[in-house]
Amino acid sequence: MNKADSERMAGILERMGYKQAEEELQADLVLYNTCTIRDNAEQKVYSYLGRQALRKKLFPQLKLIVAGCVAQQEGESLLRRVPELDLVMGPQHANRLETLLNKVETGQQVLATEELYIIEDLTTARRDSSICAWVNVIYGCNERCTYCVVPSVRGKEQSRTPPAIKREIENLANTGFKEVTLLGQNIDAYGRDLPGTTPQGRKKNTLTDLLYYIHDIEGIERIRFATSHPRYFTSRLIEACAELPKVCEHFHIPFQSGDDEILNQMRRGYKIKTYKKIIGRIRELMPNASITADVIVAFPGETNEQFQRSLSLVEEIGFDQLNTAAYSPRPNTPAALWPNQIPEEIKIERLRKLNSLVEIKAKERNVRYKDRVEEVLAENTNPKDKQQLMGRTRTNRLTFFPKVDNQGNSYKPGDLVKVRVKDIRAFSLSGVIEN
Ligand code: SAH
Ligand code: SF4
Repeated sequence: MNKADSERMAGILERMGYKQAEEELQADLVLYNTCTIRDNAEQKVYSYLGRQALRKKLFPQLKLIVAGCVAQQEGESLLRRVPELDLVMGPQHANRLETLLNKVETGQQVLATEELYIIEDLTTARRDSSICAWVNVIYGCNERCTYCVVPSVRGKEQSRTPPAIKREIENLANTGFKEVTLLGQNIDAYGRDLPGTTPQGRKKNTLTDLLYYIHDIEGIERIRFATSHPRYFTSRLIEACAELPKVCEHFHIPFQSGDDEILNQMRRGYKIKTYKKIIGRIRELMPNASITADVIVAFPGETNEQFQRSLSLVEEIGFDQLNTAAYSPRPNTPAALWPNQIPEEIKIERLRKLNSLVEIKAKERNVRYKDRVEEVLAENTNPKDKQQLMGRTRTNRLTFFPKVDNQGNSYKPGDLVKVRVKDIRAFSLSGVIEN
């Protein structure tokens, strides 16, 4: 989500005539797009800002901006803490960067953190890839997970309309993009704020409906979406993914804990039984699907037994990849105030145990690719070997292969290629083109 916001802001700057500087400490405008999901992400920005604030003393023309979730969370106190800042802007204001910079030009220090109806993105993002694009479909989050800062910094859910999303994807297709990833903090909530129900009384604009609605856009070969919430992940959605050929067999569905009582304390609204049922149904319809997730260890009050249940779930499901994190208390969240916080050494120990299990399981999962032919969308030349292309399988595995096949045909980014997998590593595969 942050990458998508950064690309949009970079696009606005480019249109305003800015060019990317060679070096962070030479630029005459610096914008940090920040994350506050955990404390260590937040702390990074302060160290970056310290260096830039010093530079501004010698070079007063320097424009210094903090955007994103730290900006939203800290607001005015950030301006007090770093008086050299010109602009502090929350994530809902990303599309307003030009207007806000014009205000800065008049010599004001600007704070833009008020809750906003996000204006439809009319800007052209400067995208890092020319093959794969992020497409926001819903902003914000209305859940109230007790550990999470997102709802307080990204605001209420706001779905973009299906025609606006379709138009953006059609434009992407016309400029050569092949893959889109639909984005939302809780993408399964898509459409619940939009009007319309079917004659049977069902909400009309769900994520499933959106997938059908955008599926046939010519030129787009692949569709992905993230992040899914087990509470709202429907069988209808799973069936649609199995039926629609462009929707890739990769599902990112965070479970957060393997213990029902902890899930309850987290206010996640589902039980592990439901989670397993979802994965079971996915695997029934799409046996090759890859499953990835997020999990938090050492949530307040988590006993050793409860932690073991997270390990057991990882053991049982066999995730292709797992983002693991130790619980980090966040401002304005209920769990941060609870007295039963877990000591740092236990956090580290649990994280270490979990990570080593994750690695073992990921390797086990990878073995299934050996000698198999996978469809890979070439995205780029391998920067470490110019004779090779790199891309991802439908299941989102990074894959390297030679640019030229055994008949002398050469391939380029944007091509869909059949690759026979030869080598397997923890995070990537290598192979040769199969004719
Ligand atoms: N909307 C997604 C996740 C958004 S945040 C969902 O509901 O699953 C991305 C991940 O950061 C979360 O899945 C969670 O695992 C982690 N995270 C969020 N708050 C955290 C906290 N306070 N401490 C540690 N990890 C956290
Ligand atoms: Fe945070 Fe995700 Fe829960 Fe929303 S659904 S509060 S983004 S963890």
